[in-house]
Amino acid sequence: MSSDAEAVISELRRLRESDAPTHGGRILSYVYDSGLAELDALAAEAADLVRPVNGLDPTVFGSVAAMERDLISFARTAFGAPSAVGTVTSGGTESCLLAVLAALKSSGVERNRANVVAPSTVHAAFSKAAETFGIELRRVPVDPTTTEVSASAMAACIDDATVLLVASAPNYPTGAIDPIAEIGAVALEHDLPFHVDACLGGFALAWWPTDLPSWDLATPGVTSLSADFHKYGYSPKGASILLHTDRNRHRAGFFATADWPGYPIVNPTLLGSRSAMGTASAWAIARRLGTDGFAALVTDIAAAREVLVDAVREIDGLRVVGSPQGPVFSVAADLDAATAVDPHRWADEVASRGFTLQAQPRYTQADGSELRPSTHLTVTPVTRTVVGDLVAAMREAADAARGLPGPEAPAPLRELATAFESGAVSVADALALDSAVTESVLVGAGIDPHTDPSQASDALDIGAVIAAIDVLPRPVTAKMLTEFLAAFTNP
Ligand SMILES: *Cc1c(COP(=O)(O)O)cnc(C)c1O
Repeated sequence: MSSDAEAVISELRRLRESDAPTHGGRILSYVYDSGLAELDALAAEAADLVRPVNGLDPTVFGSVAAMERDLISFARTAFGAPSAVGTVTSGGTESCLLAVLAALKSSGVERNRANVVAPSTVHAAFSKAAETFGIELRRVPVDPTTTEVSASAMAACIDDATVLLVASAPNYPTGAIDPIAEIGAVALEHDLPFHVDACLGGFALAWWPTDLPSWDLATPGVTSLSADFHKYGYSPKGASILLHTDRNRHRAGFFATADWPGYPIVNPTLLGSRSAMGTASAWAIARRLGTDGFAALVTDIAAAREVLVDAVREIDGLRVVGSPQGPVFSVAADLDAATAVDPHRWADEVASRGFTLQAQPRYTQADGSELRPSTHLTVTPVTRTVVGDLVAAMREAADAARGLPGPEAPAPLRELATAFESGAVSVADALALDSAVTESVLVGAGIDPHTDPSQASDALDIGAVIAAIDVLPRPVTAKMLTEFLAAFTNP
């Protein structure tokens, strides 16, 4: 049965109504709103112009090559390495995977022996890289209070099978910038490549109005850097960049073959056929804004961030985690206060006042120390326009949450957690469970993936889900999350 075009579009418009608001500063994660409607219109027009193009072959579609050259040139200047080489990718995860792949392939170390050393706050994209390429990720514990890693702790994890060091500028969970200069010195001493993951905040830090410690490709020892245009480059999703200081290592990340009966394959990224729409959007926005435009937007971010961080520091029972230095930060309970505020109950209370913050579960590091549960805030240029309302919501929410316990995991999952603890159920048994059985466990716990997607955000109690993550063994959680999402997106 076919529908007329108008009906199709109006159906999609209706579906879009159930989405979280992408504009206006009401959601402080996932979306990066410049606040400039003109940029959105420009990105849409640019994307539409290249819509039929296949980015797979820039020799056939020269516009792709031209735009990539411009983006590489723009980024390498912004990140302190005017002669760096690089690749435009579909997003941060792809940039991080390619950074690991390039280091692995140019190291000469066999995969089943190779390891990558990174702070435990590094983005999960590096766990994905490790799983995908069959190597080990050594997650170095950070100081649980400052959330900073020490370069000497990183150095202590290096052995003859280490192929890459990774650190973040800034990291996602707490917004801290790792000590890039010190880790760079370790990299030089051990003659290892060193990747700086600036996917999140690179395009904000590059124009940050106050002094920052050295963090980019100009820092001795840093050999590659990733930064997402679809974050603080304000582009629609589908654009990131990976820069290398070493041409040979850059080339090592490519896949090329003429050893099949079809056309010669040269893939600089993990994809084959690829959209040029993300590239064109990012290119148009970078052209339109220029460095002055970026700097102006970053001034707004830094101003809003200052107001928010100061406000949290004045709220009794909450604390800002560590010493964040860029556009994102996180908030945890102040255990020294007479009455602490649970950060997840607080997030729920903030949500009922119109702003969506992102709950982050507790994390136990390799040395047994713990990063406490927290709530993440991504500050964007548009945040400045709502900062007064947001501060008021944050204060009122803290008053409403003070002294109350955090959200609880659903009872069946708490019972399951007890069964794991007592040894009545083993993690191996749980991981071997059939998908249909896993789904029935979720449904029994009230986490039903078959809810109407247009009602999902009401039906899904995120506080309870995060609380469940906190009590269950993490591999079991991963299996349940997989089951939930697979069932949620399947008819
Ligand atoms: C977002 C992010 C990534 C992964 O990027 P995606 O674009 O979501 O694939 C990697 N590192 C950090 C620090 C990030 O914030």
